[in-house]
Amino acid sequence: MQKARVSILDGYLDEPSCLGVPPYIAPHVRYTYGALKDAGLTEDDINYLTIDQFRDNRKELIDKLQLSEIVIIIAGTTVPGKYLGGQPITLQEIEELGEELDKPKTFLNGPIVNCGLGINYIDVISEEIPGLTIYQHLTDKDLSKELDIAQIVDRWAGLGVEVTQQHPNYPYLVCEIETFRGCPRENHCSFCSEGFKEVTYQRSIDGIINEVEGLAELGNQYFRLGCQTDLLLYQSKEEEGELIPNPAAIEKLYSGIREVAPDLKVLHMDNVNPATIADFSKEAAQILETIAQYNTPGDVAAFGLESTDPKVLEANNIGTTVEKTLQAIKMMNEHSGYREDGVPKLLPGVNLLHGLQGESKETMELNFKFLKEVLESDLLVRRINIRQVNPLKDYEAAHGYSKHDFKKYKKKVNDEINKPMLQQVFPVGTLLKEVIIEESKGKISFGRQLGTYPILVGIPGQHEVGEIIDVKIIDHGYRSITGLPWPFNINEAGLAELESLPGIGKKRAMRIFMKKGIKDLDHLNEILDYGYDVERLEDLILFK
Ligand code: SF4
Repeated sequence: MQKARVSILDGYLDEPSCLGVPPYIAPHVRYTYGALKDAGLTEDDINYLTIDQFRDNRKELIDKLQLSEIVIIIAGTTVPGKYLGGQPITLQEIEELGEELDKPKTFLNGPIVNCGLGINYIDVISEEIPGLTIYQHLTDKDLSKELDIAQIVDRWAGLGVEVTQQHPNYPYLVCEIETFRGCPRENHCSFCSEGFKEVTYQRSIDGIINEVEGLAELGNQYFRLGCQTDLLLYQSKEEEGELIPNPAAIEKLYSGIREVAPDLKVLHMDNVNPATIADFSKEAAQILETIAQYNTPGDVAAFGLESTDPKVLEANNIGTTVEKTLQAIKMMNEHSGYREDGVPKLLPGVNLLHGLQGESKETMELNFKFLKEVLESDLLVRRINIRQVNPLKDYEAAHGYSKHDFKKYKKKVNDEINKPMLQQVFPVGTLLKEVIIEESKGKISFGRQLGTYPILVGIPGQHEVGEIIDVKIIDHGYRSITGLPWPFNINEAGLAELESLPGIGKKRAMRIFMKKGIKDLDHLNEILDYGYDVERLEDLILFK
């Protein structure tokens, strides 16, 4: 890290409507970088580092940060969760940094500024829109008097693309793209941080396409339209007090992105309100088909159902219903759930939130019943996310049951819903391309693809972190799958890999391992015992 006038410390965003934890980079980071460029700073004037880079090399980097004139810390409102790719900055870390950095002026930037937290030791708590305060500080100009906010965001989004090249994950980096800010509902769900946002805007189609073009020109190939509360309401039109989805705008956006980024490897999305699909089924069907036409397989639209308990829905002012969510799941399966290269194009995810006002033991029973109904209706859901509410401002979490009951409920969902659902979404033999190894522990390595809600893949055998391999699925866990590298030559396989083949186990694996030079399935059949049906391996192994 060289001496720079301004340092950006990326503490990672992990808001419900925006993600910036590696392998993602949040738009806020790019907007801030764009604002600095717009204020006249050059590439050499700006340093970018992530909180994990800082943690790994604190002693050296703190001295370097002290040499900057300005340090901008970017942080979000934390969604409780564990990430393999990095851990978001904590409030304690922000305050410690603020206290220690006595030479540079410190700015705090990002969604954390809306949370009403009393934050000590930071010199400037920025305005809501990333970049505005620092731009004004550097230029003495309030750009919001000349342009509207959406124009400013589009401008800085275009100027901020270069920062991606400084990210440690580049070029294996997912660029989170924002389409609009804020939740269009008049009355917000009582636990949700979207209601804290005072500034909202819709970005222009041209602005987003221009940003993607700039990112793609620098070699970025992974994109997610994940930063908004409901993608189906992007550029929606108001008629008689209702927001009507706009299929033409979404078509223009997606086709434009494909045109300027022809080599992209991932185009995914996030966040749809199931009520929008159910209430505007004609427009929604068109939009879902458009998305599936232009996206890449494995795409997921997370539905914020939050609860199936009518008492909880009412107590928290949640705007969807069980019936609407079920209808939305059906429609998504019908219009965009078809497979390309063996993987569904676009499936729903279901978010269930606990710790909400009005909950009781019955809430868990109702949630389970709903999930069971989905499974038994042969509908596919890519991901069921059960999590606890993050109580912000004056929201008080409530639990009408014990921790033990909650654990039992989660286990039941895992055993009876998650595993069979995964088996249907990713059947044995499905090929997953470009799985990036993130961890290697003993006899097993773990990796994921780049994209939205990628499934965790356990791969028998040792692989180097960062290695990229194609895998074929051989088994399923509750929230992860097991896969073998593809192509898989049985004559060169290690013992751990052979043991993991369906139904093989230790003894048969040893027999295969000792044999080598196996020519084909018939030959393998001779080697194995009568009790084993070699046809099971037909699509999973090669003989070379
Ligand atoms: S619908 Fe509710 S949970 Fe979803 S973004 Fe709006 S306020 Fe938040």
